[in-house]
Amino acid sequence: MRDRAELERFLEAALSPCAVRASDSRGRVHPDDEPPYRGVYQRDRDRIIHCAAFRRLQYKTQVFVSVLDGDHHRNRLTHTMEVTQIARTMARALGLNEDLVEALALAHDLGHGPFGHSGEDALNEVMQGHGGFNHNLQGLRVVDKLERRYADFPGLNLSYETREGFTKNLTIPGRAQYGFAAGESPSLEVQLVGHADEIAYDTHDIEDGLDSNVLKEEALRELDLWRETEDEVLGEKPVLAHEQRLRWRSVVRRMIRRLVGDLMAETERRLEQSNVTMLKDVRTQPRELVGFSIGLEMKKRDLESFLHANFYNHPEVRGHTALWQARLKEIYAAYRKDLARLPDDHRKRVDAEGETIERVICDYVAGMTDRFAEQQWERYCKA
Ligand code: MG
Repeated sequence: MRDRAELERFLEAALSPCAVRASDSRGRVHPDDEPPYRGVYQRDRDRIIHCAAFRRLQYKTQVFVSVLDGDHHRNRLTHTMEVTQIARTMARALGLNEDLVEALALAHDLGHGPFGHSGEDALNEVMQGHGGFNHNLQGLRVVDKLERRYADFPGLNLSYETREGFTKNLTIPGRAQYGFAAGESPSLEVQLVGHADEIAYDTHDIEDGLDSNVLKEEALRELDLWRETEDEVLGEKPVLAHEQRLRWRSVVRRMIRRLVGDLMAETERRLEQSNVTMLKDVRTQPRELVGFSIGLEMKKRDLESFLHANFYNHPEVRGHTALWQARLKEIYAAYRKDLARLPDDHRKRVDAEGETIERVICDYVAGMTDRFAEQQWERYCKA
């Protein structure tokens, strides 16, 4: 059996000098013995997969299409698996740390509340004057505090490099407030997972939108990214002209390939152009090194605006998200009005951990799955 040091040497020999190395990890906040045959980031991955917030992802939706029809739409758990797959493929091809990328991708949505971004807006609204609510920072709370599984420390005690994934939308000075080195940029692994997330949701939201009949293929053909990709696959397999479902699958698959290929080529170009050859150069580069070429970035933005206008804000989808955005605020108010409704171990956190009551309620509501939130609304808020 290989021990940890040997495994690290073996894996790190294949890494780019710009990659993060487990043997150079800045470690964990609380002292923690490392196991004999698992690396730091492998262990982070295992802790994420075994935590309760991870399992709850299966009952949280992003676009809330589950109400429209069918059981085969994505939920946050299957989305997380897709992001992980896309990110690992790119990490391996670019010589980045695949174990770290896997941990980052599996954790990336742990801070999302019920009902996706409308849920986030509702919580942010009720938390005005009490610190607000943001799903990335909530993810950090989940892994640092809210998960309780170990006798020696709260949270999962993840490594610095995995926790850093939740800082991706913070300004460089903003990072210091959460214990991350001031003046540094995020690792390439963190940047990569952010873009793998975009590739996954842009493409699968199109697929779910078409499958649920909310999006129309004729309208999608107005978009360069869709039309060019569709023409390409039809040119190769003319039979797809008569096979609607197969055509949609083929276009979506090819779009992922195109976005992935472009992202990797453009990233290599930027590394070369900026003379970034070592991890320390990555850390001191103020601009993002992982990204799409200008041409594809523009087409991708057109696609995203299209999805906003025609899918996320489609009356049928918007009707449900707006309803539950309002109801989530009612759920919060119901707990605020009668604290006895909060489970004991949550209420106790006010004294034990010096949290405000508003934050404790927010943490509890943010942890809810869509269906649990629906039950709580029926129980406390339904007139
Ligand atoms: Mg995501």
